[in-house]
Amino acid sequence: MKYIEEFQDPELARRLLDDIHATVTRPWALMEVCGGQTHTIIRHGIDQLLPEQVELIHGPGCPVCVTPLEVIDKALEIASRPDVIFCSFGDMLRVPGTGRDLFQVRSEGGDVRVVYSPLDALKIARQNPGKEVVFFGIGFETTAPPNAMTVHQARKLGIRNFSLLVSHVRVPPAIEAIMQSPSCRVQGFLAAGHVCSVMGMGEYPELAARHQVPIVVTGFEPLDILEGVRRAVRQLERGEHTVDNAYARAVRPEGNPAAIAMLEDVFEVTDRAWRGIGVIPDSGWRLSERYRDHDAEHRFSVTGITTREPAECRSGEVLQGLIKPNQCEAFGTTCTPRNPLGATMVSSEGACAAYYLYRRLDLAPVRGADPTARTTPLEASPVA
Ligand code: SF4
Repeated sequence: MKYIEEFQDPELARRLLDDIHATVTRPWALMEVCGGQTHTIIRHGIDQLLPEQVELIHGPGCPVCVTPLEVIDKALEIASRPDVIFCSFGDMLRVPGTGRDLFQVRSEGGDVRVVYSPLDALKIARQNPGKEVVFFGIGFETTAPPNAMTVHQARKLGIRNFSLLVSHVRVPPAIEAIMQSPSCRVQGFLAAGHVCSVMGMGEYPELAARHQVPIVVTGFEPLDILEGVRRAVRQLERGEHTVDNAYARAVRPEGNPAAIAMLEDVFEVTDRAWRGIGVIPDSGWRLSERYRDHDAEHRFSVTGITTREPAECRSGEVLQGLIKPNQCEAFGTTCTPRNPLGATMVSSEGACAAYYLYRRLDLAPVRGADPTARTTPLEASPVA
């Protein structure tokens, strides 16, 4: 398949690995920002093929995982209303809120529908003028433009019974928060290529210079990851810290100006809470004043929400790269994709789901593990 198979070539992968092995002289810790990159790394065992000195730390770039519990609980409340058709991408339906999920709301009679595009939700609103249709708009800079465009369309077409429950987040403030954390071990970043294909690279040079970290814009296939690691390690060994584009087939420095213009028209930057991490200043978007009519949080006043995270879930530490998923005692025992305790076990981009899907036979939960210790997956005891 064009643009996929040629980026999975084993011979080219071997050459890139040889180059990385020949370059590394010291330990380096790199964070891959996006959960899609984490899945490629774990699925193909890339972390196990790298030199011992290169550690890959999994970052918070999973949109489902970082959506705050309070927003999930608001979605559950709104979706339970008899006058509402609640539309969402499928992966949000199993994300646990406080005590239940959207599947449960549906089983209790709520009209919860899986859609493949926000425009599908807009169509449902046109077909059901007597109902309030709400679309669950979550995600990073990648999903925000189509959601912005849908709200823009709703306003233009006068479809007043459509609203968006917004929980959009932005990558650069998250990188800033990670670097400011006292426990941060990250020395370089593999930035999310798809985010940069929308937003461009303009937000990164200042971050790279101020924190003295290389930021390499990286794609999602195995050769993309290896090339991103190779470029980051080369910079670190030379004492450099610049922004480099290793995903030039998809990313232009200026990004996608039409998408950026749509974002700036419909949304405004705001502080956002990230599940398991906390509030990060300027790290999200909300609907701007002009579009506030289509904001589900304003349309439905949902108050009195008391959130409660499962005590044993350590997804906040997983999302910050402080522990690997198998260092959580619930991994693969009380927490599985079928019975998830945290969103990182549900999402197709979650790190816990990646470890469960591709490594659970090699890994056992590390009971009482030192959370700061590096895991050595190949040496861990196999599950009986
Ligand atoms: S394995 Fe489950 S309980 Fe543990 S951090 Fe991941 S999602 Fe939370």
